[in-house]
Amino acid sequence: MYDLTSPKQTSELLRSHGIRLQKRLGQNFLCDRNILNNIVASAKLTPNTPVLEVGAGAGALTTALAEHTSRLTSIEIDTHLEPILREVTADYENITLVFQDFMRMDMNALFDSAFGEERGVFVSNIPYYITTPIIEKLIEHKHRWRRAVMLVQQEVANRIVAKPATPDFGSMSLFVQYHTKPEIICKVPPTVFLPAPEVSSCVIALEPIIPGAIAIRNEARMFHLIRAGFGQRRKTLLNALMRAPGSFHLGFGMEDRVRAEAFLAKVGIDGNRRGETLSLEEYGRLSDAYEED
Ligand code: SAM
Repeated sequence: MYDLTSPKQTSELLRSHGIRLQKRLGQNFLCDRNILNNIVASAKLTPNTPVLEVGAGAGALTTALAEHTSRLTSIEIDTHLEPILREVTADYENITLVFQDFMRMDMNALFDSAFGEERGVFVSNIPYYITTPIIEKLIEHKHRWRRAVMLVQQEVANRIVAKPATPDFGSMSLFVQYHTKPEIICKVPPTVFLPAPEVSSCVIALEPIIPGAIAIRNEARMFHLIRAGFGQRRKTLLNALMRAPGSFHLGFGMEDRVRAEAFLAKVGIDGNRRGETLSLEEYGRLSDAYEED
């Protein structure tokens, strides 16, 4: 049996099956026992917790997870890896391997088959090229899971946990922080992957918040405002909101500057601030005031 925490043995296993890793599929395999243990511990599994993994690779994380749950569903897009995965997981009756593109799967059907009625745990060493769509899909179905532990690029992890008025703060920070409680578990250097990626990574954990981190009247309205606030980063909030493109506009034309200023003053937010300095609570206040207006 191959030791998948050893880069040398993982390389040999891949070579013996004639497999060359594909950069375009984000195939950087994790070969480090400590980080694997850390990911599994952060998932906070009980033996009955159903687990869904995306991107099984050669099965290092898959087999580590399978030691701690009675039900694991693991998705892998690359059918070249099927013989390896079948071999590596042969002794585990609790693993269901699915060879499909996660991005094209029916999420409700997938959660039904992986978790049933329960709220399970999502774990993934994420293929980096689809980090944002995976997080968006998860959040869209946040009532189906209770914890998500993911290995993501450090830059993405920093954006997810960023606080207002810091360089990493953006609409993604507000989106994830409204829907979940995010936490950085640990930093992961490129050297523990086969092959090493160009950037550092982080293990992060998300816990869904239902309905959301703050009480607001209209979620969609708040996210329109957030997009408008960040859409024109160099503009003041007042200008950004007045010029916001698309379906949302405050209802103030450029000629209505005075009215728009009065609106922001009523909410207690200085229109000369930049959108990137507003907290989630402030965007919530702005959005609720707009609903009232
Ligand atoms: N879990 C393994 C590990 O930790 O070593 C592999 C992680 S590797 C970063 C990401 C894996 O996701 C690759 O095996 C890749 O083929 C797979 N993958 C990429 N895109 C995918 C998709 N759309 N659906 C399912 N798996 C995908």
